[in-house]
Amino acid sequence: MIPSPTRYDSMHYRRCGNSGLKLPTISLGLWHNFGSVDDYENARQMIFTAFDAGITHFDLANNYGPVAGSAETNFGRILRENLGEYRDELIISSKAGYGMWPGPYGDLGSRKHLLASLDQSLKRMGLDYVDIFYHHRPDPETPLEETMGALAQAWRQGKTLYVGLSNYYNPEMAVKAVTVLQEMGVPCLIHQPAYNMLANRTLETGTFPALEKMGVGEIVFTPLAQGLLTDKYLNGIPDGSRATNPRGFLKASHITPEKVAVVRGLHAIAQERGQSLAQMALAWCLRLPAVTSVLIGASRPAQILECVKSLEKLSFAHDELARIEAILAP
Ligand code: NDP
Repeated sequence: MIPSPTRYDSMHYRRCGNSGLKLPTISLGLWHNFGSVDDYENARQMIFTAFDAGITHFDLANNYGPVAGSAETNFGRILRENLGEYRDELIISSKAGYGMWPGPYGDLGSRKHLLASLDQSLKRMGLDYVDIFYHHRPDPETPLEETMGALAQAWRQGKTLYVGLSNYYNPEMAVKAVTVLQEMGVPCLIHQPAYNMLANRTLETGTFPALEKMGVGEIVFTPLAQGLLTDKYLNGIPDGSRATNPRGFLKASHITPEKVAVVRGLHAIAQERGQSLAQMALAWCLRLPAVTSVLIGASRPAQILECVKSLEKLSFAHDELARIEAILAP
């Protein structure tokens, strides 16, 4: 594979918080469609398509698959066989904190879990280090000092270049975790929550400004609400969509007539703007300066290309934003 020489021409890169690191405004996640049960060649083509479009950041976790771990194994194979020589052009992340192996050490936030999991992830991907290592979700039963201490150790050992937090929705807890890291001399690069037009709007007045003040960037996952914020479910549930995939996280029961009515209203505004709903949904997340990057998923390469075209129209008129709020309000 020879990457396109024009791969950096149109992507936008935003500085992540107060760090020196810039991330592409669109990043690609390997949660669905990159596991051992999926079509490897399609997965490979999606990675190539993304990289050719200037997407330098690929987001993984210990448990992505299925089978858990297999997305990292597949990504490692793509690196080994195709993209290894471009390692310094890539930002690769992984996470630990969801159930990964049996017994009391395969989950949550102990030092034992985090450090063992990171070693496993590095082995699966064939890497000496990841660029970002996250605690995947808060663990109310483990002292924050222990979990953050494990991130700090991985950082000091050079097994990760940066550390991050994911799903720390409570602003007080997020601020405390970042403070604990800072007291250990380790800057927190980034926070990764779910955020889109249909989810977690309280972040806008809670964790986003609180962490922005502390110099932490935000990368928001499921910006398309797993496909709901596209035109795909406007007229029923099409074959091959995530909602029909028994392994998919989105269930047909989530696609209620009320949600489809909202999506229809949003779709009409997107059309007036001359873009698809997927493109408008991504631009909408990126309207906030706190958001460094939107973390999309995809099931085929063409979807990635469509998403990247959102960059052609990121700005919103006041009136458009007000009409979107009116549709989302009920
Ligand atoms: P999205 O909201 O972007 O949903 C992706 C899905 O939307 C695709 O699989 C596809 O569904 C559909 N889609 C994408 N582009 C288009 C398009 N242009 N037109 C039509 N449909 C489209 O995000 P995900 O839910 O996949 O999550 C993204 C990433 O976020 C994950 O891979 C992971 O890295 C991260 N994440 C992190 C979590 C955490 O706890 N930290 C939890 C969940 C996700 P279809 O299959 O129907 O074609």
